[in-house]
Amino acid sequence: MDALTSLKAAFDRLLKGEKVVQNGEIVWDDFFGRRAGISFLEDLEKKFSGVKINRDSRRRTLALFGAPEKRAAVRSAILGLVSQQQEQKIRAFPVDGRFIGVFMSADLVKLQQELGHENVWFDLTNHMLKVRGDKDAHKVAQLAVVHARSQRIAPRRRGEVECPVCFGEVTHPVTLKCGHSWCKACLTRYLVVSADTKVFPLTCLGNEATCSHAIPLATAQELLTTNEFESIIHASFLSYIQSRPSEFHYCPTPDCNQIYRTATPEKVIHCPSCLIRICPTCHTEYHDGAECVDKEAEDDKLFEEWKNAHDVKDCPSCKVPIERIAGCNHMACISCKTHICWACLATFTRSDEVYEHMRATHGGIGLGLD
Ligand SMILES: [Zn+2]
Ligand SMILES: [Zn+2]
Ligand SMILES: [Zn+2]
Ligand SMILES: [Zn+2]
Ligand SMILES: [Zn+2]
Ligand SMILES: [Zn+2]
Repeated sequence: MDALTSLKAAFDRLLKGEKVVQNGEIVWDDFFGRRAGISFLEDLEKKFSGVKINRDSRRRTLALFGAPEKRAAVRSAILGLVSQQQEQKIRAFPVDGRFIGVFMSADLVKLQQELGHENVWFDLTNHMLKVRGDKDAHKVAQLAVVHARSQRIAPRRRGEVECPVCFGEVTHPVTLKCGHSWCKACLTRYLVVSADTKVFPLTCLGNEATCSHAIPLATAQELLTTNEFESIIHASFLSYIQSRPSEFHYCPTPDCNQIYRTATPEKVIHCPSCLIRICPTCHTEYHDGAECVDKEAEDDKLFEEWKNAHDVKDCPSCKVPIERIAGCNHMACISCKTHICWACLATFTRSDEVYEHMRATHGGIGLGLD
């Protein structure tokens, strides 16, 4: 790459920030859209002063601004956290067909609010509620399933047409092509909450949720207000795009909302909204003739150099890199909060344990005073 192009690339990154990517894919976890995630990023900005993290929860990207070596450290901390998030256990809870309608119309939304959207989803094919998280999260989910099950359901009477949500006799029936009838109010509510629950495609819950008939858009449009209808269309569109990150991309221009589909690797993409040209390989602004920058390899190299020049070690528990600026040998990990002895990298849950260990094993706490 000639010097001028590389200068331009460096300058672009300075202005637009460097997107956090790994193996060519944008790194994001919905954790960053919630309070705990936001404060994790704020802590990182404090810890690595001079780095600014731009969080875009709509596009699901993080961009880093600041000196390359600090950016590299922040990037590693973010990757560490994301892999930690994703390693959490997923548990599946079976939900009886009869209770799925009740569950999807009320309990699922509450559960998603409590445990985070990204951690709770419903697998309609297998009738399973799936929850990602620790023991406590699994307990909360289990209670929600028990609660849905305990809701009193009137026994089925002969000859009565039963609604798949309320199990009562259908009032103001809406009959779908599959033959199942729903109360108008129950079907409307099921459609409205789908903008939150994001279980797509929307299928009929008739016959104990074994009916896999898709609910036609025209039915949804008839029952919903224009705004409600727009928001489920938008939600189903986004869930489609988000489940195919290697196929769909956002235009790299920061304030452009255009989404485009991956083209053949030879064909330069023109954004129809902001008119910039986009590289079909690395999905950044098109760089005439110059090779795509392998940011990851470049970052890893920079980061290794930076680590060697500073007092940096990886946290023995979660592998997030920690820098010791000054002080004693007691360190606490910024990510997992583990207490660490800097001299031998032994880990402890409480700080007094570290001090005890340092005195017993290393003859002092490392300030050269004792
Ligand atoms: Zn009903
Ligand atoms: Zn049906
Ligand atoms: Zn654009
Ligand atoms: Zn490229
Ligand atoms: Zn840690
Ligand atoms: Zn030690």
